[in-house]
Amino acid sequence: MNAAARKTLRSPSALVEARLTGADRLAALEQVAARYAVAITPAMADLIDPADPNDPIARQFVPDARELERRPEENPDPIGDEAHSPLEGVVHRYPDRVLLKLVNACAIYCRFCFRREMVGPGRGGLSPQALAAALDYIGAHPEIWEVILTGGDPLLISARRLQDVVTRLAAISHVKVIRVHTRVPVVAPERISAALIRALRTRKATFVVIHANHPRELTKRARAACARFIDAGIPMLSQSVLLRGVNDDVETLGGLMRALVECRIKPYYLHHADLAPGTGHLRTSIAEGRALMRGLRGRYSGLCQPTYVLDIPGGFGKSPIGPSYLSEGGAVVEDFNGRRHRYPPRR
Ligand SMILES: *Cc1c(COP(=O)(O)O)cnc(C)c1O
Repeated sequence: MNAAARKTLRSPSALVEARLTGADRLAALEQVAARYAVAITPAMADLIDPADPNDPIARQFVPDARELERRPEENPDPIGDEAHSPLEGVVHRYPDRVLLKLVNACAIYCRFCFRREMVGPGRGGLSPQALAAALDYIGAHPEIWEVILTGGDPLLISARRLQDVVTRLAAISHVKVIRVHTRVPVVAPERISAALIRALRTRKATFVVIHANHPRELTKRARAACARFIDAGIPMLSQSVLLRGVNDDVETLGGLMRALVECRIKPYYLHHADLAPGTGHLRTSIAEGRALMRGLRGRYSGLCQPTYVLDIPGGFGKSPIGPSYLSEGGAVVEDFNGRRHRYPPRR
């Protein structure tokens, strides 16, 4: 059956029925689902190979009993959004840009989500009053140069509502850039309609940043959905999360970056997985991440190089975490083959 015509799977029993998990796991997964939202769109369900116990798509979306194991370093608000939220729906951590969270729901729920304690179906979105207050806040802060629509997934709202928000943002003269962070073009490409693209076209520079973690996610339909934005003059960037058993080898990670660039999408960030509760089985170490980044630099085009970043727990922002090619206080620089070279000090 056509993926677009089928329904999103929203419960462990639906996952068992679709053969994406075993009936023996049902009881354990019911416990996980009672705590963290579950949804797998038809487009992603179709990509899962039920015969592969280590399927990288399943690892991202099919719940796992280990999600109930909380490690001491894990935190329900791992990147400290709360500390920088002046009012509902707004996170203002950096002076020149804010997050505007229109909805708390997503098309699909990633098992490693850093907002997993905040998102879910029925968590609602911004009321018209809260949206008006958020827009007033942005209008009253001339230092806000960029507004980032995020959530939840902002492309879950109707084209009409999106158009309304974008038009009101574009009317604020100091807002020069609108950025949309979304997973919809990948996980529910059928939602990327002509009306939705039209809703994003304004006089302000608009960027769409997609989230993709494995090259297989870039299906023909996902590629076509992305091409619609880009052909309409909306450039695209990508964010990926480094995940154990999903993309923590150079071939997969490099393959993902190449697939993105082939779609005219510039890889932007590779996120070190945040310390969200119950996600330890999906995290790598930072040392592993740095080694993978060295592997990418050595073998793939400069276009395929994202910046590897850590969102510092506590709300201190994102920092690039390497690797570094300089040593001995800048006197020695390493090349992509690992050979070391002296660089003369400035006189
Ligand atoms: C990630 C993030 C941004 C965007 O950061 P960039 O480095 O500009 O991509 C802005 N605000 C908050 C609160 C964030 O977490």
